[in-house]
Amino acid sequence: MIIFKEITPLKEAILQFKSNGESIGFVPTMGALHSGHISLIKESLKNDNITLASIFVNPAQFNDQKDFEKYPVAIENDIFLLEQAKTDMLFLPSVNEIYPEGLSSPVKYGLGYLETILEGFYRPGHFQGVCRVVHRLLDIIKPDDLFLGQKDYQQCMVIRKLLTDFSIPTQLYIVPTERETSGLAMSSRNLRLSVEAKQKASVIYDALNFIKKHSADTPFTVLKGHALSMITDAGFEKIDYIEICDATTLMPFEDYNKNNKTIALAAAFIEGVRLIDNLLIN
Ligand code: AMP
Repeated sequence: MIIFKEITPLKEAILQFKSNGESIGFVPTMGALHSGHISLIKESLKNDNITLASIFVNPAQFNDQKDFEKYPVAIENDIFLLEQAKTDMLFLPSVNEIYPEGLSSPVKYGLGYLETILEGFYRPGHFQGVCRVVHRLLDIIKPDDLFLGQKDYQQCMVIRKLLTDFSIPTQLYIVPTERETSGLAMSSRNLRLSVEAKQKASVIYDALNFIKKHSADTPFTVLKGHALSMITDAGFEKIDYIEICDATTLMPFEDYNKNNKTIALAAAFIEGVRLIDNLLIN
């Protein structure tokens, strides 16, 4: 695996591959890699000749400075996992390389409604930061394909909008969520949980499955209330949201309709760690 810390040599290598007719698959990450990230790498390896991963803990997308400071870093293990997975290239830029003009940005992405709900509501400015870094990385790399995880479903919708709004000719692949055997969605943030909390945390998946199982025969308000009790009773200290939404627009649904592509989403805190998950219902 070739590791690049600077943009210029990375661009030269990409140009070389492209002039040989090779397609580039891109997997952006913030490191502390786990099998979820590696499933994106595998998907890229399947679809493209060259797979490029990036590791960049993007300060622009953290609305909570403490969350940024506590974000796990495990670069040596990350490199080991990427090499083991046969990743071709890794881009490991500094903050200055990505934001030479500093962190504050004059550009405002027109995300509209998508930015006012769920993650957008609870993490103001988060998706602006996500768009900024992904737009910058796409501009540098110009990949054929981009691989994102369904785990961050709203992020996928935001990036889909970014690709459309800026007519970026990169194909988006949304890769299913990789889970622990307990059902807990794999996440770099799980590293901050005690063994006990990690066990309890699988209740989010149970609650989403409960919603899925009963969605056709129980009012959504009742389902959300039950899911909330399940998560609270398991020991979560705070729940930001449990919502049942249109899987395309993320507008909340009031009632079940078998013709609607529907998704249940949740965000909750345990041991001060904020976990998110989602499940497609039909
Ligand atoms: P992150 O490093 O958390 O920014 O995640 C980088 C990419 O990996 C994003 O596209 C995530 O959605 C994806 N990802 C994170 N966790 C998982 C998971 N458990 N399964 C599949 N993809 C994931």
